[in-house]
Amino acid sequence: MVGIVIVSHSRQLAEGIRELAAQMVQGKVPLAIAGGIDDPENRLGTDTMQVYQAIASVYSEDGVVVLMDLGSALMSAEMALEFLPEEQRYRVYLCEAPLVEGAIAAAVASAAENNIEQVIAEARGALAAKAAQLGGGANLTDYPKNTTLHFLNLPEQLSVSSSKEQPTTNEEQQTKEIRLTIRNQLGLHARPAAKFVATAARFQSQIRVRNLTRDSEAVRADSINQVAILGVRQGHEIAIAAQGEDADGALAALQVLVEANFGEDDAVLKSRSAAQTEATPPFKGELSGIPASPGVAIAPVFLYHPTSIQVQEYYVEDAEAEWQRFQAAVQTAQQEIQALRQTTQISENEAAIFDAHLLFLADPALIDPVRQHIFEQRQNAEFAWQTVIDELVAAYRKLEDAYMQQRANDVVDVGQRVLRSLVGITLNTLDLPQPSILVATELTPSDTAQLDPTKVLGICTTLGSATSHSAILARTLGIPAVVGVKPEALNWNNGTLIALDGEIGKVWVKPQPDTIAALQAKREAWQAGQQQALAKAQAPAVTRDGRQVNVCANIGRITDAQLALEYGAEGVGLLRTEFIYLDRTTAPTEEEQLAVYQAIAQTLDTRPLIIRTLDVGGDKPLPYLGLPPETNSFLGWRGIRFCLDQPDIFKTQLRAILRASPGHQIKVMFPMIATVAEVQRAKAILAKAQTELRQTGIAFDQAMEVGIMVEVPSAVAIADQLAAEVDFFSIGTNDLTQYIMAADRTNPRVAKLADALHPSVVRMIHQTVQAAHKADIWVGLCGELAADPLATPILLGLGLDEFSLSFQAIPALKQAINQLTVAEAEAIAQAAMKLDDAAKVRASVSALQKKTRERKPTSSDVG
Ligand code: PEP
Ligand code: MG
Repeated sequence: MVGIVIVSHSRQLAEGIRELAAQMVQGKVPLAIAGGIDDPENRLGTDTMQVYQAIASVYSEDGVVVLMDLGSALMSAEMALEFLPEEQRYRVYLCEAPLVEGAIAAAVASAAENNIEQVIAEARGALAAKAAQLGGGANLTDYPKNTTLHFLNLPEQLSVSSSKEQPTTNEEQQTKEIRLTIRNQLGLHARPAAKFVATAARFQSQIRVRNLTRDSEAVRADSINQVAILGVRQGHEIAIAAQGEDADGALAALQVLVEANFGEDDAVLKSRSAAQTEATPPFKGELSGIPASPGVAIAPVFLYHPTSIQVQEYYVEDAEAEWQRFQAAVQTAQQEIQALRQTTQISENEAAIFDAHLLFLADPALIDPVRQHIFEQRQNAEFAWQTVIDELVAAYRKLEDAYMQQRANDVVDVGQRVLRSLVGITLNTLDLPQPSILVATELTPSDTAQLDPTKVLGICTTLGSATSHSAILARTLGIPAVVGVKPEALNWNNGTLIALDGEIGKVWVKPQPDTIAALQAKREAWQAGQQQALAKAQAPAVTRDGRQVNVCANIGRITDAQLALEYGAEGVGLLRTEFIYLDRTTAPTEEEQLAVYQAIAQTLDTRPLIIRTLDVGGDKPLPYLGLPPETNSFLGWRGIRFCLDQPDIFKTQLRAILRASPGHQIKVMFPMIATVAEVQRAKAILAKAQTELRQTGIAFDQAMEVGIMVEVPSAVAIADQLAAEVDFFSIGTNDLTQYIMAADRTNPRVAKLADALHPSVVRMIHQTVQAAHKADIWVGLCGELAADPLATPILLGLGLDEFSLSFQAIPALKQAINQLTVAEAEAIAQAAMKLDDAAKVRASVSALQKKTRERKPTSSDVG
């Protein structure tokens, strides 16, 4: 089937066109888009690598038609062709057809299994169809009726004839004709025309159709443009003529389609105006929204109206007391957020959303104006705070970047939390009487994080977006969600049965039995799929040619350990211990830490548990430890540097780790190592802790492995020297990338630069692996890169022994490893190191992965 690529300056436009075209052909045609650019300041533009990737993702021997909007889109598309291998390039056509009409016409023609010339012809004819329909310049006579297709710009060998040419050899065959009246409301508009064409294209016969009411000429029934040009409206009579072996079948199929009103329900259409006055929505109670979290739910409505605190202004006499009251409220809010972060059943990655909330509360741009309002205008704290929050929310909502706009919801969340604390009310806990679908205007991340997936089977909101933190949390919790549905959803009564499909973004009110049955089947298939994926994830990650790698989880809370095992983790490759130190005013004691390490070790039993010693500083401030604010905190007093200067805090942690070790496979790991001396000093403090324990007869694992994180470029350069000091390396690509590229990992403006698939980072990973293996120690990787699907073959090909990543990404990683061979992975890794740009690495891996997917495994691959 011919693939279609839509190139536009606007990603939204490209996505919209893809959706429209995909709907016409029920998703049958490979469609890809390249839209917008990755520049937060100006998202409009086109990117050659994106176009290349889009082409590669839909490429097949049948060819690809690329449709573009204007200007640089053409240039990007032309340049993208340069990246394609010679033998593929001539099968990819840049088509001058109008973007929207052309994409739809091309998709319909491709779905009808036309060859590439016919697909291009359909795309090119699309504007003529529209013009004729509007009574404009083009008309039927302008449009090529000759069915032999010759196109300018096509290589000679591809200028061929249609497979269903006009009768020449079978003239003796009788032409059969039927006449039908079109009854659906909008006539043969785009969607019915697409169905008509798709049906006609299933038959070998030559089928032509004419509009008798307009006395038009007959046109090909397998051309979306020609059918659309007929201008068939409700009540028009059409004649369909078919000639060929299967003429009877073709006419019968088209008759059924027309008589079924192309699947449109005219009863609903007729009663639409009446239905609009009712609370239930039109079209059989079906509402469309934005798909925000996949899965299906069928359950009664539970309407949730979070109490929004109304604030009154009043004059305060004692500004200092009011300021103190405000600060106490902020502190309470901070403690609540810390608690929420630690107790909710979400992974460390998603819990980090609440770190952003904590940062809001420490932001002088938010706190200082409140102080001013209180001291200078003598405003009460509630009013001062609400005023500042409202201004910030408005500023976020004005931003052009849709993702950044969604951050307004986080500000509202934090704002309400402080207000609740100021006025002394606690957050509504959602007490659902029965498993339900939660219907609300919008949920805050705090609301969502606390949802119980056994009670909240689905979420339906009238505001929100798929990139909001609430949507991210819903996906993590596995709760299907549709957001952005019409506000009438808020009029539904509690207990009304509704159904939602979070994959396609649809909600049904009082669904019909057939809808329920279909959705129930989909829900069961979805649940079975999830179970299957989790069951499969319990198997080891072994390449097709038999190489096994260890797959572990990165965790930052006790509760993550059990979840990690359920998702197929074979151990913990990185326990970030910072969480034990947060939300307190003094450092945790040895006993407190021991309890945490023991709890996690017990869950893991004898599986590996790598405990990383405290890595504060940088983006992880901790006020009570006396870490001063630093101009360049990432280059400052953080990780092992801090611990070596605070040996008591460090030794307390090491003692707790050692004491938890008996009977388990605990390993200790030092972060931010830049020099050999740092490792030696850290090991000396560890040895001291061991001696103390020995002297007091406290048991510990004498053979506990000691490792370091390789996340500073100097560590890569002296990896051979460091390898002589330790039992293992774990590469921290989050920090390593920011230091190699000199691009702050928290600064979105340089995020593109801090891509861990930049060849410079890939080469450094390679060097580290080589040095480790030469010294006979194992090497893992625990940066976010381990969860990046495009990195999997590269990391495997570089010889990594262990991947450690967020547990939710484990099933997909194992599956990807199972599909590769070491030789394939090595080839991909070698190729990546020769490129000069991260985008090129991504494009090349994506193209190679596609090829690998298409390649069927043979028995010779195994063993
Ligand atoms: C890293 O730097 O890659 C890493 C895993 O550590 P963190 O993200 O905690 O700094
Ligand atoms: Mg790090």
